[in-house]
Amino acid sequence: MPPHAPRRAALRAMLVEQDLDALLVTDLVNVRYLTGFTGSNAALLVAADPQRSTVFCTDGRYLAQAEAQVPDLERVIDRPCDLALAARAAKDGHGRVGFEGQHVTVDGLAALEQVVEGLVGASGLVERLRLVKDDAEVEALRMACAAADRALADLVEHGGLRAGRTEKEVARELEGRMLDHGAAGPSFDSIVAAGPHSAIPHHEPTDAVLKAGDLVKLDFGALVDGYHSDMTRTLVLGKAADWQRDLYDLVLRSQAAGRAALLPDADVRAVDAASRQVIVDAGYGPRFPHGLGHGVGLRIHEAPALSKSGEGTLSAGMAVTVEPGVYLSGKGGVRIEDTLVVRESAPELLTLTTKELVVV
Ligand code: ZN
Ligand code: ZN
Repeated sequence: MPPHAPRRAALRAMLVEQDLDALLVTDLVNVRYLTGFTGSNAALLVAADPQRSTVFCTDGRYLAQAEAQVPDLERVIDRPCDLALAARAAKDGHGRVGFEGQHVTVDGLAALEQVVEGLVGASGLVERLRLVKDDAEVEALRMACAAADRALADLVEHGGLRAGRTEKEVARELEGRMLDHGAAGPSFDSIVAAGPHSAIPHHEPTDAVLKAGDLVKLDFGALVDGYHSDMTRTLVLGKAADWQRDLYDLVLRSQAAGRAALLPDADVRAVDAASRQVIVDAGYGPRFPHGLGHGVGLRIHEAPALSKSGEGTLSAGMAVTVEPGVYLSGKGGVRIEDTLVVRESAPELLTLTTKELVVV
């Protein structure tokens, strides 16, 4: 049974709660979440009353695709879709029509107001639904994480991580191997950072050559059915020095503390603090300059933010990353990141690659 109808039913309940007659959904990711449509242009008008028509709109390029992917909704072929559906909302007599203010420009709103009265800013409603993943979403995330796990295992097994290769070569091979394991593509630009570059949290791969004794930080993910995986592992080439082992052990303990704190009702700031405290206690607080993690799903970065400035509490079914790092400028850095799903008693780990220090 496709998951989209239950998602729209949950949204309708929110519309009733917000006293809205309809919601004009113009964010393409939200349209995909509510309908399954994967084309590049679409909008959706969701009526609060289940007896009223919920209308999907796309343009002529996607006629056949819309028939196949959205067979269960009334379809309109027109453009621009937002104005076509706004006119439909007026025709259907909807009094209070919510729109996604965070995705509408000032000019776009002016154009909408020419077509329909009673527009009400209603940002973040679908995003709130997307916080808690349903079974279909977790399964897609699981497959995305498995593709990344297998790609890294293949890379190491086939000698892809070795002195003499460049960061760019390793990134390309890793991304190719994710495709081999079912990914539609990488879920973001892969980070391959060797030696001193590993101390740069978001380093772009360069032509720098990997050397024996380097820490090599790999932060990458796979895209499957629109869902993004996100994993970081830091390995050592050749032989690990004592300082590298110590640094690795510290980050590993911090990461374990963060994972252990991932429970329903936990404050997102408390989860960040649980992991961060381990690093602060070791005297490296300032060397961990970013948040602990982020939600992940149809976007690589989505709510909730696990950080000092984050807000709210966790619920079972949320998918998040836990990714502490310590970066010693000019020397090297370690980050360890998993993608997990919050569950009642303990989180479900989706990225299954070992977190023991791997020396290749
Ligand atoms: Zn990452
Ligand atoms: Zn991440």
